[in-house]
Amino acid sequence: MKWVKPKTYTNPIFHYQRSPDQDKSTPVRHQVVIVGGGPTGLVAALDLASRGISCVIIMKENTVVLGSRAICFAKKTLEIINRLGLVDKMLDKGIVWNVGKVFYNEDLSYEFNLLPEDGHKIPAFINLQQYYFEEYLVDAIHESPLIDLRWEQELIDVEQDEEKVKITIKTPEENYLLEAEYLIACDGVKSPTRTKLNIPYEGEKFEENFLIADITMENNFPTERWFWFDPPFNKDYSALLHKQPDGVWRIDLQLGQEIDKDEEIDQERIKERLRQMLGDDVKFELEWTSIYQFRCMRMAKFVHNRIIFAGDSAHLVSPFGARGANGGVQDVDNLIWKLAYILKKQAPRNLLNSYDEERSDATNENIFHSTNATDFISPKSEISLQFRNAALDLAQHNSFARTLINSGRLSNPFRYVNSSLNSPEFDTEWETEIQLGYTAKDAVLNDGFLIDSLGNDFSLLVYGQISFQHDLIKVITISDLDTDIIQKYDFRDNSWYLIRPDHHIIARGRTVDTKTITSAFQRALGEKQNQTIIESIPDLFTKYKNDDKYKQLIDAHKGLNKSESELLNSKLLLLFLEKISEVELKDILATAKKVKE
Ligand SMILES: Cc1cc2nc3c(=O)[nH]c(=O)nc-3n(C[C@H](O)[C@H](O)[C@H](O)COP(=O)(O)OP(=O)(O)OC[C@H]3O[C@@H](n4cnc5c(N)ncnc54)[C@H](O)[C@@H]3O)c2cc1C
Repeated sequence: MKWVKPKTYTNPIFHYQRSPDQDKSTPVRHQVVIVGGGPTGLVAALDLASRGISCVIIMKENTVVLGSRAICFAKKTLEIINRLGLVDKMLDKGIVWNVGKVFYNEDLSYEFNLLPEDGHKIPAFINLQQYYFEEYLVDAIHESPLIDLRWEQELIDVEQDEEKVKITIKTPEENYLLEAEYLIACDGVKSPTRTKLNIPYEGEKFEENFLIADITMENNFPTERWFWFDPPFNKDYSALLHKQPDGVWRIDLQLGQEIDKDEEIDQERIKERLRQMLGDDVKFELEWTSIYQFRCMRMAKFVHNRIIFAGDSAHLVSPFGARGANGGVQDVDNLIWKLAYILKKQAPRNLLNSYDEERSDATNENIFHSTNATDFISPKSEISLQFRNAALDLAQHNSFARTLINSGRLSNPFRYVNSSLNSPEFDTEWETEIQLGYTAKDAVLNDGFLIDSLGNDFSLLVYGQISFQHDLIKVITISDLDTDIIQKYDFRDNSWYLIRPDHHIIARGRTVDTKTITSAFQRALGEKQNQTIIESIPDLFTKYKNDDKYKQLIDAHKGLNKSESELLNSKLLLLFLEKISEVELKDILATAKKVKE
């Protein structure tokens, strides 16, 4: 990635400090060592501290990220930061947005609202430069007596046995050894930990180049995400516009495959491109520029005995959809409560298997969406371009076609519906979209927001007269005044929901029965994983089920020449004839022939 550094932000410098561990004659053993202080590692440390567990973070650099990579932080990530008590600063600084618009050429195709419902503390997204996100976390870490963040210390070797992980650390002085019961590798896409252990990291590389131009400018664009397909100012390619704090705007311009990077990163060349987009009257200054390509990659498994991978070290996606940093933070949200229970001897070690299962499914979903978005934005074949343009043409007047438009399916919390930690449904009559495995939907309670009440522990939401008590489960009683949650969760007398520490729902029922709730809790700690058959509803990708059908349609053309493709399309149309009525055909023909206004 070629880049030029930002102007409105000056990176704080944190100097190397010698640790007393370096002067010990034998390696000091810590419960947890985290390698890497990006978003994933920093949140992991704070989450451990919030559970009373100390850790060491080894950080190769002496500052936060150089230049903002991530800017879009999603609701679930912010709910996690809220749980850690740090969200106010981010919401104050960040640009809140819920609405996105998609344009085709010069016309608005459609707009969407990611959070049309009331009763939520946290918005769908904020835009905040990654360096602020990291800096705020670092500030909190420096205040924490439980976190030892070691700047300018670099993992250069790692090995493990059944008992421990042994790490060799390079410092500006001499190298030293450290031991850990568990090591969390959050050391980014090049992950030295992964490389040292020789673990494959495989996937797909995309040849398309994108230019990021963060600029400062005065204008009246609303605080929405705007995405253009084939706009006049970047013909045949795409463009993206986002507002950030400090009067900074992110413009992302697709550049194509065959480019001269040195020529394209030239500041005058970039300004010329931006003038074409913004017009000659808009005054702007370049803030940070960069050209990037991307890959979708992953490790097969994230847990390797005592070494656990999270964030970019474990998986990588394209920026479309904002699933990178958000995915990493959600990895550690899943991992840390489990590790804390294991370290406190409240759960067996096999609970970590569920981190592998659950985040592996989440990674597959992220890669699926990321790859599809990339294929939609930069179609790889003539036929795929034709389908793409047909969908865009139809979208203005046809809601079905809008479901096919993919400018990046924006990060939403993964639903662990197939998790072995979930109990079976005890009752089936739930008049709510909420299912087991979903993250707890926020709601207004009589005395605040649900997500504030949930906190760090297991929670039991109960409506009605109950007498349930458990040392490790916080009971939250829903009263008749809590109408928002009653409606969202379909609470009726004696209904309950059991929610895990990362706020995912694992069990619910219509009668409060201590034995059932306790056994659901034990199951969520991995104690009964293989004993009950899971009866959850397969949900992976259902929200975007048309994406898969669309992909199948394009994949069917692989290896065909133009006339073979045309023949296939004609045959498909004739076969669809059998499935539709005369009236439907007339209707479809009229829609397809409608000229773009
Ligand atoms: C252009 C662009 C735009 C993006 N936009 C978004 C977005 O809007 N939203 C989003 O969610 N994501 C976005 N991303 C992705 C996001 O930036 C990454 O997914 C995120 O930074 C990953 O965080 P991480 O902590 O896992 O890894 P990193 O941020 O890479 O952090 C790894 C850390 O490990 C340290 N390290 C490495 N090796 C060692 C070692 N040997 N010893 C000690 N420390 C080491 C590094 O110095 C670094 O601090 C974007 C990415 C790009 C490139």
